[in-house]
Amino acid sequence: MAEQPMLKFVKIDRVMPEKRDAEARNHDFDEIYAEYADAKAKEQSSRCSQCGVPYCQSHCPLHNNIPDWLRLTAMGRLEEAYEVSQATNTFPEICGRICPQDRLCEGNCVIEQSGHGTVTIGAVEKYITDTAWEKGWVKPIAPVAEREESVGIIGAGPGGLAAADVLRRAGVQVTIYDRYDRSGGLLTYGIPGFKLEKDIVMRRNKQLEDGGVTFVLNCNVGEDISFDAIRGKHDAVIIATGVYKTRDLQGPGSGAEGIVRAIDYLTASNRKSFGDDVPEFDSGELNAQGKKVVVIGGGDTAMDCVRTAIRQGAESVKCLYRRDKLNMPGSQREVQNAEEEGVEFVWLTAPKGFSGDAVEGVMVQKMRLGVPDATGRQAPEVIEGADYVEDADLVIKALGFEPEDLPQLWGTEGLEVTRWGTVKAEFTSGATSLPGVFAVGDIVRGASLVVWAIRDGRDCAGAVLEQLAGGVAVAAE
Ligand SMILES: Cc1cc2nc3c(=O)[nH]c(=O)nc-3n(C[C@H](O)[C@H](O)[C@H](O)COP(=O)(O)OP(=O)(O)OC[C@H]3O[C@@H](n4cnc5c(N)ncnc54)[C@H](O)[C@@H]3O)c2cc1C
Ligand code: SF4
Repeated sequence: MAEQPMLKFVKIDRVMPEKRDAEARNHDFDEIYAEYADAKAKEQSSRCSQCGVPYCQSHCPLHNNIPDWLRLTAMGRLEEAYEVSQATNTFPEICGRICPQDRLCEGNCVIEQSGHGTVTIGAVEKYITDTAWEKGWVKPIAPVAEREESVGIIGAGPGGLAAADVLRRAGVQVTIYDRYDRSGGLLTYGIPGFKLEKDIVMRRNKQLEDGGVTFVLNCNVGEDISFDAIRGKHDAVIIATGVYKTRDLQGPGSGAEGIVRAIDYLTASNRKSFGDDVPEFDSGELNAQGKKVVVIGGGDTAMDCVRTAIRQGAESVKCLYRRDKLNMPGSQREVQNAEEEGVEFVWLTAPKGFSGDAVEGVMVQKMRLGVPDATGRQAPEVIEGADYVEDADLVIKALGFEPEDLPQLWGTEGLEVTRWGTVKAEFTSGATSLPGVFAVGDIVRGASLVVWAIRDGRDCAGAVLEQLAGGVAVAAE
């Protein structure tokens, strides 16, 4: 029988974790985490096959040069990876966190298509720019020369901010007007903090402010200042106001207490996370704690509401959607996250009415999918006689958003809108029917994505620069 090796006992001087001071522990954790994140980013980046047909890139609205920054990350050349990444994206660390990658870059990764699981492009993009901020590679906005021309931007969401960034770097004087008290638009008050940490957004706002962009906050255009006054002050104006009119519920009892709009619910939750005084939250009106919550809708806003309600300590959270899982508009990844967190999805259901002065229940009708409509989508049909009541003491309406009537609100008859109420704008420049007035983001596209708003803002800023240089932007037809 082979001789067993002698076991050696080595005395290790251990310091029990609880005896070490918190700072040292945090430092160790940060270091271990940084090493882990670095290894993970390298591992994922090296999975990219550099296929030569970068569908990921063509399906990214910004056409980010993904294969190149993955290759550089895999080689440990992170600063260069950052340079490539930021060349096409104003806010890469934001997109890395909240783009629906399964529908965009990652969903079209050839490795994913061949059944081996996508390269986690979004996570690597986030890692590169988070590291760039940490290492001081993110450069301040410092125009080489100041220009006299000024541009007014209405709306401090991602569309307006992306345009401001490009214009300011070119030395243009930029003023952004927003009705909220903080900039960022839906990045700040719509998207929940567990998906997009608010300090990440505030850091970008500060970068713009430090770079010379003037923010006029708490300023509702159409009320506090007229649109014409803004036009009179600037050489060009960009409308980036997003879409905020909530689609409403119908049926008896739909005005009951306890039935609230998704945007109000999410804004209250986000405000609370800033430490603001939010009476509607404190009174329980916009707080799901201990409640039976029913969210109506199947898009990403509905997913944000159900996941926020879970985090607020709701007793139960159900999501009613009139089609099935396969046909819902929200990201499948978000549904999976929500399910794992304890949300119950009740597919093929629609509200018919509500009981109680303060809502107590939702009268639910069961649906089935019928024949495809003109768009090829199966239309939901009511199954007669199958109604039932779902208990609820907080109902959140997340049925989507529509544009406000800007020509009427602002008294600008010349500003042409489409039949959906979105501003009519030329596809790439964002030029509207009014000379010198441009529009970008959701107010042009209807409710869309952050990455598209950034793309629009960047493209539009290019067109505005051309106009300021004497070129003429093509007007919307
Ligand atoms: C709850 C929710 C979650 C979402 N989650 C995601 C996600 O995970 N990923 C993703 O890619 N997209 C997501 N989206 C969509 C995304 O947030 C939008 O497509 C994007 O923010 C649009 O950018 P924008 O700049 O056009 O408008 P917004 O971000 O809406 O910004 C418009 C700004 O204009 C201001 N404004 C409006 N009217 C006036 C006025 N009259 N005077 C002054 N200021 C005005 C508003 O206060 C606001 O700050 C989500 C949307 C919602 C509602
Ligand atoms: S911007 Fe969005 S779609 Fe483009 S690479 Fe980044 S995560 Fe993917």
